[in-house]
Amino acid sequence: MADPHWLFGDQLGPGFLRPDARGGGPGRDSLVVMVEARSVFRRRRFHRAKAHLVLSAMRHRAAELGDRVRYVRADTYREGLREAVPTGPVTVHHPTSRAALALVNRLEQVRVLPARGFLVPHDAFASWADGREGHRLRQEDFYHWVRRTHGLLMDGEEPAGGRWNLDRDNREPPPAAASLGAPAPYRPREDDIDAEVRHDLDRWERAGEVSFVGRDGPRIFPATRREALAALRRFTGTRLAGFGPYEDAMLAGDPVMSHSLLSSSLNLGLLDPAECVERAEAAWRAGEAPLNSVEGFVRQVAGWREYVWQLYWHFGEDYRRRNALGHRAPLPEWFTELDADAVTARCLSTVLGQVRDTGWTHHIPRLMVLGSHALQQGWEPAALTDWFHRCFVDGYDWVMLPNVVGMSQYADGGRMTTKPYTSGGAYIDRMSDLCGPCAYRPGERSGERACPFTRGYWSFQHRHRALLAANPRTARAVSGLDRLADLDALLREERERGNRPP
Ligand code: SF4
Repeated sequence: MADPHWLFGDQLGPGFLRPDARGGGPGRDSLVVMVEARSVFRRRRFHRAKAHLVLSAMRHRAAELGDRVRYVRADTYREGLREAVPTGPVTVHHPTSRAALALVNRLEQVRVLPARGFLVPHDAFASWADGREGHRLRQEDFYHWVRRTHGLLMDGEEPAGGRWNLDRDNREPPPAAASLGAPAPYRPREDDIDAEVRHDLDRWERAGEVSFVGRDGPRIFPATRREALAALRRFTGTRLAGFGPYEDAMLAGDPVMSHSLLSSSLNLGLLDPAECVERAEAAWRAGEAPLNSVEGFVRQVAGWREYVWQLYWHFGEDYRRRNALGHRAPLPEWFTELDADAVTARCLSTVLGQVRDTGWTHHIPRLMVLGSHALQQGWEPAALTDWFHRCFVDGYDWVMLPNVVGMSQYADGGRMTTKPYTSGGAYIDRMSDLCGPCAYRPGERSGERACPFTRGYWSFQHRHRALLAANPRTARAVSGLDRLADLDALLREERERGNRPP
């Protein structure tokens, strides 16, 4: 009989229990061990919808596995494992965080198997990255390599359609309508397991054991493989076609637009990235979705998601402490409490409200509203990383560390991106319907109706003038400071505003 196999809460799909091609990995008859460790929720204040989703997914998986699983509710992982398998060897697939990897490496009885749930094995990435040290590991180069090695959207040696990158077709501002009018996304129906999870969360909160943030409305993200497959089918069958052109646009009344909403299912391990991109490609080959939409989705899953996963391990433990811009301001309470109603700036209030209500918002509000505001205000990158990790249903350490420290906050000094990503209100105005009814005007830098993003943008440029002037990608923008007649006024207003909600 094969050794018992431990499944973490983000290793829930069938792929994590399949023997590998060489007969290694968990056996078909292995006892499965799952540990629900309460200390995870005591240590950090998670979004309640996220806690609900993860616990629901774990308990649903245990119910599917029936007698084959030993499901332990314990204070810590170590205690839970000791209770489930007091002695003898246990296997586990490479966990997804450094903390969990350190834990399983400390436990003598545990043997760590290669990671699953990603297209690119660690050793293949290491070979690819070898020899590129000293240069930026460009996401675009990595993405081409993944497409080639996996034969994704390829026509022989060439990218399907002749171009690798169809971003040019995928940056449309939103249509002049309150909604994109896309077919509705898949929504699961809650069951008794969800009710039990909600009851437990209520009980723990009432006992003062744990505290959550955000609302835990009806669950809107898949918790089972069956639900996740239904969501994937709905997306590739009805929503993918309209995804590409508006993937960067924002609509106040339509936060979901044509986005796939599959990231939480991928990151729980319920879906395998290969099946997602293969289905998307099949939709294009069948003439059901245009190439720009399919390429945009493949880029997200096979490009960005894989890249971020690899960089998390490649950059090393110290990466989380990088703070190249010296940003040390604490996150204000209105932000950590997701108090959208305290915020006047319509874009920030709308997006913070989406996070409060669902634990999700798409990549542009994350980068160009939440992240951009934090960067302009000089909030501490490590605290912001932790916030994104706790408050998003798809947030995990490996996801958020490179995305926030590298991509969003430029705290790594440019290892991931060539410039800091931030903008004034003009970008948000062009890419959304948020500015029209806002109390502020996107074109005003100072004065009562000054847009906090426009004022914050120039204030950021001023604060980091020397660094930005030395970067060819930002030198022109920073030189614009010299033409601002109201620079002193806007800097004074920015100082006086402090950390109050904008
Ligand atoms: Fe946001 Fe400024 Fe537009 Fe208001 S005017 S919605 S604060 S970008």
